[in-house]
Amino acid sequence: MSVASPVQSAAGVRIAGLRKAYGENEVLKGINLEVAPGEVVCLIGPSGSGKSTLLRCINLLETPNDGVIEVGGFTATDPDVNIDALRRRVGMVFQQFNLFPHLTVLKNCTVSQVKVLKRPKAEAEAIALRHLEAVGLGHLAHRFPAELSGGQQQRVAIARALSMDPELMLFDEPTSALDPETVGDVLAIMRKLAQDGMTMVVVTHEMGFAREVADRVVFMDGGVVVEQGPAAEVIGNPSQPRTQDFLRRVL
Ligand code: ADP
Ligand code: MG
Repeated sequence: MSVASPVQSAAGVRIAGLRKAYGENEVLKGINLEVAPGEVVCLIGPSGSGKSTLLRCINLLETPNDGVIEVGGFTATDPDVNIDALRRRVGMVFQQFNLFPHLTVLKNCTVSQVKVLKRPKAEAEAIALRHLEAVGLGHLAHRFPAELSGGQQQRVAIARALSMDPELMLFDEPTSALDPETVGDVLAIMRKLAQDGMTMVVVTHEMGFAREVADRVVFMDGGVVVEQGPAAEVIGNPSQPRTQDFLRRVL
């Protein structure tokens, strides 16, 4: 299994002083994070530490209260930002797949290409099939999501995102909802995507994947980045007590 083609262009990300509150509850307390083009960053940390909120701010599924987010040359936090133009560059894969249940696998992978990128239907289908074949699911193009296993649905979600030619991919616990025997297939696709040069920010509890694939591991707790560095350091020899505590519980 492999992604359809090496990545055309990969964007870097720059986040500075990012704050996000829900009412009184400030869940991101001044996040600074830079991701180079083609870099793979794994984001780890306890439940409630703000990992999903951080990812969701990057493509403006949440509106930051303060700070700057840049994706490629694009300033997401510019008040005049074109949200559609930003989201076109940023693919996102969720824990719960979020496929459209009433659409076939193929249609799931073409609808945004046609609507947002204005691609002709035939071209969109050819691109979708290329990505579906690359994740080993070309033969299921005319099925509905409910007819697929969780791992297959997640592979469709990845193919759907890649059909939009993103410059950055965000993954929010992409294997947490999967049966153990299907986790490996999804991780293999992500590993290949990383090798092909995609910029990736991956929230994950898969420490094996982080060790093997991540260029950098970022540990978050309580809405701040507590520690970051090469996987071997952050996972293998963490310097901060909070990181040590967290890893003791998950490893
Ligand atoms: P993580 O992904 O690390 O588990 P989240 O970013 O989901 O953490 O959540 C961080 C905090 O923000 C939690 O306390 C959560 O309850 C709160 N939160 C997340 N989304 C919302 C929301 N839409 N409204 C109110 N509070 C939220
Ligand atoms: Mg989360």
